[in-house]
Amino acid sequence: MELLLNEQERMFRQQMRDFVRGEIAPCADEWDRKNQLAYEAFRRLALAGLTGLTVPPEYGGQGGSLMDSFLMSVELARASVSVASIMGTHLGLALSGMYHYGNEEQRRRYVVPAAKGEKLCAFGLTEREASSDVSGMATTARRDGDDWILNGGKCFISNGDTADIILTFATVDRSLGARGITAFIVEKTMPGFSVGKVEDKLGIRAESVAELVFDEVRVPAANLLGEVGKGMRIALATLDEGRLDVAGQGVGVASAAFDAAIAYSKQRKQFGQTISEFQGIQWMLVDMANEVDAAWLMAYRAARLADSGQRFTKEVAQAKLFAANTAMDVTRKALQIHGGYGYMKDLPLERYYRDAKILEIYEGTSEVQRLVISRALLS
Ligand SMILES: Cc1cc2nc3c(=O)[nH]c(=O)nc-3n(C[C@H](O)[C@H](O)[C@H](O)COP(=O)(O)OP(=O)(O)OC[C@H]3O[C@@H](n4cnc5c(N)ncnc54)[C@H](O)[C@@H]3O)c2cc1C
Repeated sequence: MELLLNEQERMFRQQMRDFVRGEIAPCADEWDRKNQLAYEAFRRLALAGLTGLTVPPEYGGQGGSLMDSFLMSVELARASVSVASIMGTHLGLALSGMYHYGNEEQRRRYVVPAAKGEKLCAFGLTEREASSDVSGMATTARRDGDDWILNGGKCFISNGDTADIILTFATVDRSLGARGITAFIVEKTMPGFSVGKVEDKLGIRAESVAELVFDEVRVPAANLLGEVGKGMRIALATLDEGRLDVAGQGVGVASAAFDAAIAYSKQRKQFGQTISEFQGIQWMLVDMANEVDAAWLMAYRAARLADSGQRFTKEVAQAKLFAANTAMDVTRKALQIHGGYGYMKDLPLERYYRDAKILEIYEGTSEVQRLVISRALLS
């Protein structure tokens, strides 16, 4: 794998490893156990100049590639999927969408402070009744003079309760389906915007997920992102980038679980020998290694395609699907290799196992990835 990265990428990966070892890994268990929001991590990422990694320097970022973003996601998720998810939402979804589709004024006003880590972003697409099929969205945008008036709500929004800026979507005409969906930049201080239920969940417990409520929220016309009716295209293109980060999360958490399983199997003794000497364990480890490597390679391919400006929708859906499956399988096997100790909260194995599940759900479920892939295969 190392050989497939160039010198700059290897250096960046090392920089990320050092950062994660010093700033994230020591706190990851505690943040998860206390169900404490890991926004302290966001502050640390901002100080390290990472919150705008893929944004050009003239807009407050680092000018990094999507390969860099993938590598960052892997390294963060090795320590904490929660932190990787906070960053994936902030950078890979919201900030990236605002940068690519924003005009100069929007970039100056929103992209610059978010890239510098002065503002945290969220991405509000999902609704109670419109999720895998967002074309049925019920949040409406009505033109009123120089403003748009938003009514409705979003659910399960990562960073939702603390984000300063929300890239959100509403329909200007429900009868138009996907062609009515339009993107808006909403600030949390806009009158009529509020945070509803904050969810209690199985995994990524250090990251928060909340309901957003829009009650006659007056959004200036200057905050319309792109064009009226082009929001679905923005959402789908943005999700392609986001899915690369999710693939990175899968590779990261699976790698952490795999490394732990290797180390434990070499020191745990039963029947007078280390458990790594049992063929049953060796074969499990081999399968885990294969899955982790294959997941990395699929994501690597998608990142290279993306950075070379080619379409990568199918490849990133394949990478996300495979990495999510890998994360589930490898964390389960790693926990099994640790036996009862793996089940206890003294070790991070049970956290890895709980955190892996979300990768099969957000940014399009595994079934939706299959839908995307099969459409491309059969087109
Ligand atoms: C922790 C967490 C964080 C999230 N963060 C965000 C966020 O930041 N922003 C955001 O907008 N959303 C976010 N989401 C929402 C997430 O993207 C949705 O939960 C996801 O898209 C699935 O929607 P749903 O839960 O309503 O399931 P549904 O769409 O109701 O699906 C239910 C089941 O049916 C299956 N299904 C649906 N359609 C098909 C089909 N055509 N063929 C086969 N099977 C199908 C699904 O795969 C799933 O198994 C988050 C969700 C969670 C749990």
